Amino acid sequence: MKRITAIILSAVFLAALLCGCKTDNDKSDDRVNVVTTIFPPYDFVRQVGGDNVNVSMLLKPGTESHNYDPTPQDIIKIQDADIFIYVGGESDEWVREILESDDKQPKKVIALTDCVDTVQEDITTGMTVEEENDSDKIEYDEHVWTSPQNALTISRKITEVLEELDSKNKKSYEKNMLEYARELSSLDNDFKEAVDKAKNKTLIFGDRFPMRYFADEYGLGYFAAFPGCSSDMEPSAATISFLINKVREKKIPVVFTIEFSNGKVADTICEATGAKKLEFHSCHNVSQEMFDDGATYISIMRTNLKNLKEALD
Ligand SMILES: [Zn+2]
Repeated sequence: MKRITAIILSAVFLAALLCGCKTDNDKSDDRVNVVTTIFPPYDFVRQVGGDNVNVSMLLKPGTESHNYDPTPQDIIKIQDADIFIYVGGESDEWVREILESDDKQPKKVIALTDCVDTVQEDITTGMTVEEENDSDKIEYDEHVWTSPQNALTISRKITEVLEELDSKNKKSYEKNMLEYARELSSLDNDFKEAVDKAKNKTLIFGDRFPMRYFADEYGLGYFAAFPGCSSDMEPSAATISFLINKVREKKIPVVFTIEFSNGKVADTICEATGAKKLEFHSCHNVSQEMFDDGATYISIMRTNLKNLKEALD
């Protein structure tokens, strides 16, 4: 992302232009202005902030988060934000340059990977790994939100920062957080219960595997075609046959694919084994249709729970 400096410069230029045409109406909105990169924190802010926040997500619904590049307008949005929330980790390297520049900065910044304990990205047996993957370089798994427990910790951090910036609405944030914590805890309990009853405790992903924190939380084993954030690529023949053998050996009824995937690897495994292909949605982003239908982290995870029950049978 070498383009970033050029983008910052044009963002500053654009900001100068835009400032010239601001009207008094712009001041009428005294809601806390929150900007997030991806969907999960966007939704957490909505749940906790309610009508007191104006939250926007930089990633457009329906787009793949790993291909995202900020536009000059996005950079202005970040600089103008009261709170900017990003994930942290390798996919968000571009953020550092913006936050370390001498330009205007958001009032508060939250990195999801700073809110919870992180683990290293896991390469399990059988995975196809990109060749340039430098084994000396430690990469942290950035998909921290996939565990509902982490979602709770992150939402609490967001609540804390909202209360700091907007103390007059503290009671409202507290009330919303209490209600949201109840919903997340109930989701967490339902996952625990499903796993407790499970005959099979191994997940097969004929796809990338961004669900490490989720699997660790509930003590689930997993095998997958690629690591969490790897760019699209062809799996090796060894990976395919490894996963087919695992499905047969452990009599696993479901092979998962993730959102925005062509699902071809999962199809191949299902054709060979008779397993059923189902989606496990990692929540990086939602489709336009889901967005318009009001999908939330909890509604997506509830669909995952339904599919997981079939897989654990
Ligand atoms: Zn990812």
